[in-house]
Parts: sequence; C-alpha cells; structure tokens
Amino acid sequence: QMFDTLTERLSGVFDKLTGRGVLSEKDVDAALREIRVALLEADVALPVVKDFVAKVKERAVGDDVIRAVSPGQQVIKLVHDGLVDLLGGEGEPEGLALDGEPPIAILMAGLQGSGKTTTAAKLARRIQTREKKKVLLASLDTRRPAAMEQLQQMAQQAEAGFLPIVAGQTATEIAKRAMKAGQLQGYDVVILDTAGRTSIDEELMAEAKAIADIAKPHETLLVADALTGQDAVETARRFHERLPLTGLVLTRMDGDGRGGAALSMRHVTGLPIKFLGVSEKVDGLDAFDAKRVAGRILGRGDIVALVEKASEEYDKDKAERLAKKMAKGKFDLNDLSDQLSQMSKMGGLGGILGLLPGMNKKVQGQIAAAGFDDSMMKRQQAIISSMTRQERAKPELLKASRKKRIAAGSGVEVSEVNKLLKMHRQMADMMKKVGKKGPKGLMSGFTA
Ligand code: GDP
Repeated sequence: QMFDTLTERLSGVFDKLTGRGVLSEKDVDAALREIRVALLEADVALPVVKDFVAKVKERAVGDDVIRAVSPGQQVIKLVHDGLVDLLGGEGEPEGLALDGEPPIAILMAGLQGSGKTTTAAKLARRIQTREKKKVLLASLDTRRPAAMEQLQQMAQQAEAGFLPIVAGQTATEIAKRAMKAGQLQGYDVVILDTAGRTSIDEELMAEAKAIADIAKPHETLLVADALTGQDAVETARRFHERLPLTGLVLTRMDGDGRGGAALSMRHVTGLPIKFLGVSEKVDGLDAFDAKRVAGRILGRGDIVALVEKASEEYDKDKAERLAKKMAKGKFDLNDLSDQLSQMSKMGGLGGILGLLPGMNKKVQGQIAAAGFDDSMMKRQQAIISSMTRQERAKPELLKASRKKRIAAGSGVEVSEVNKLLKMHRQMADMMKKVGKKGPKGLMSGFTA
C-alpha cells in the first residue's frame, strides 16, 4: 500500500513522543529530524521537506499549550495539519469548472503510460453520473491507433459518447470536429485525450497548445503516475511551464509506491490535485481530499480528533489566568472545579478515552485502578460545590468538622472528601512545577 513505510516510520516517531508526559524542546527537535528523514525516504522532494519541517516547528513554538492533551498528541496534530497544508489545505476538494456555454472542453495531458486514457474515461463516467452532464470522449492520439481504440472501448464501459475515428486527420482537425460534434449533438462536456509520448518534446507541447487554442478548455488536467515518484513531479513542473494546467490527477494510488510524488506535487507545481486514480476500473477515480490522505498517512485520526475537540473547548483567557495562578503555586479547588467541568464538556472521561481506541484498554485499566471514572468526577464536582468559596480557595484550612459537613452536603463519605483534597494537592504541586515555565508556546510548555 502506498504510504505504508512512511506511516510506519512516523508511527515510530510518535510512539516515542506520546509515551511521555512531558517533552523538552530537544525531544521535539529530535522527532522533527526523524520526520525529515522519513519524508526524504518516502521520496518527498527536499525543498518540500525543509519547508514542511520548518512550518511544523514554527507552529509548535507559537501554539497554545492545550493542557487537556499531551504535548506528544499536540505534535501529532501539528504534523497532521502540516500534511493537510502540503496537500492543498482543508476544505472541500476542488471540483471541476464545468459551468459555461456548452460544450465545454477538458484537455487531458500526460506522458504515455501515465493512465491518461483510462482517466479520461473515468472522468467521463464521473461527470455523467455525478453532474448529470452528457460527455463526449475524443482521442487525439493520431500516431497510436491502438490508443484510439482503447478509448473507444473505455467510452463504452463509461457509457459516454465517443467521437468516431477518422483516419488521416491531424490532432487539431480532430479537436475542431469534436467541439463541433459536441455542439450539434447536445453534449455538455467534451473530453479531449491528447497524444502521449514517452518524454516531453517540443512537438508534443506545440500540438497541445494548438489544441488548447481551438477548444479553449475550462480544465487542462495533467495525468501523472504516482508510482514514478519525483519523475512525475518533474514532468508536471515542465508541462506546467508550457501549458496552463488547471489541475493534476495522480494515478496508481492503489500501488505500493512510497508516496513522495503525491506529497510533493502540490508544493512544487502550485497546482491542485483534483483526482486520484485508485484502480484500473472505470469507476476507480476518487475526488482528492487532503484531509483524508493526511489521515491515511498518519493513521492517527483518533488523536487528531481529540486535539481538535480539546482546542474547540479550550478557553484561552481562562487557561492563561490559570497558568498565572499555577506559576504562583495557586491552583485552588475553584480551578479544579473548572477543570472538571471542562472535561465533562468534552464528553467526560468516556468521551476522551473513546477517541483513543489504541490506548483505551491500558489507560482505562490504570484509571479504573485509581478509582477514577465519570461518576467519581461527578461526585468530586458535588463535593467542591458543597464548599464555600473561601474553603475552595484555601482547602488546607478545612477541619474535620467542616469536612463532615461537606461530605453530608454532597452525599459522600468523609474519606472521599479527603481523597479529593489529596488529589488536588498532588495536582497543585505538579502544576506549580510545570507552570513556572509560562504558557507562551507549546515548546515553552515542555519541561527540559
Ligand atoms: P496512457 O498511455 O497514459 O493513456 O495510459 P493508459 O490509460 O493506457 O493506462 C496504462 C495502464 O495503467 C493501463 O493498464 C491501465 O489500466 C492502468 N491504470 C491507469 N490508471 C490506473 C490506476 O489508477 N490504478 C491502476 N492500478 N492502474 C491504472
């Protein structure tokens, strides 16, 4: 499977990070170095890798520390976001520009064997079934009669129209005929499959330009074979220098390449990847979705979702006030109460752990052993709310008689009140240490 090796390598890096509660800047730097090597080994272009690592590092320094998640988890989210950006950013996958006076033309370009003809037919099928538009396919590969026949066959499978082959016509003559036929026969879209060569040459480029002048395509798509790695990226770059491409289609994403082409393409060419070819069949074309591909590479959708959720709930002002108090060694029960309600907003322990299927059993076991569960969180909330504001601010002053009153008020045993107070003392101690570092960035939140 494509990206498998990369996924494995990144997984190793992340395991090291998430295994620890606190990270130093050195840990993060070491992780980024390993990520850099992993990307290079996956055949991602060097400038792309450099840029990627620099951006992730920059964000790690500038990012708010979200205390509901571990630094390691936050780093995974940053790497995820970096990958999404690299692949073209969040948001709906970019569709095709099909509006306008019909017939509108789509020009297919690419080297021989890249999967251009197959992709032309796949696109025709997709546009017909999804956009409910009539599509005419035309082959302009005058030098390869076999290629023309191949498209004819595939047009049948795609149940799209096919422009009859007329021997002896030039590519530009066929382009004119295709646009005319499209108009007369009421087609919405005409897909022109241009000639493929084994390498880019002057003649090929001149021909493609002449065809573009006639058909005035709304889309000029370059089809590239993802398995050819950096060659595919270089081909795309050179095509784009000569032809105003509007997007890319990467084929053979179902193969077991290293994935470097897919990761470098967008960054190097500036062009959106619009579709992925995922099988030889006529329905084997997926709309490109950066988030989905990034998720597939990282294989840590659970953690990404967790951090996203935590940052949605994360109240920056409150966190900063809390950090200041912590730094002064003042984390009182009012703050603990805030923390508990923050956690229940995130669906309680169950909600948080539910997002972490991998860790679920182990962590749940530890937490259960400590007697910590959602009902305990609720009881703790009840205990705290049975205290006066003063008591919450200075829990160390609580005497036995008061503890008894609080226990009665919240319907628990006194031992449970003591347990809560002990837990709070431990948390306050720990936070005092962490809090001294100040809340400025994720990096500064780590302890050395
Ligand atoms: P062209 O010379 O660029 O027109 O390439 P073709 O469309 O003839 O494709 C070359 C070969 O690659 C054919 O055997 C296709 O079935 C195969 N192919 C094309 N796209 C894909 C894909 O996304 N996945 C797989 N597995 N094979 C593909």
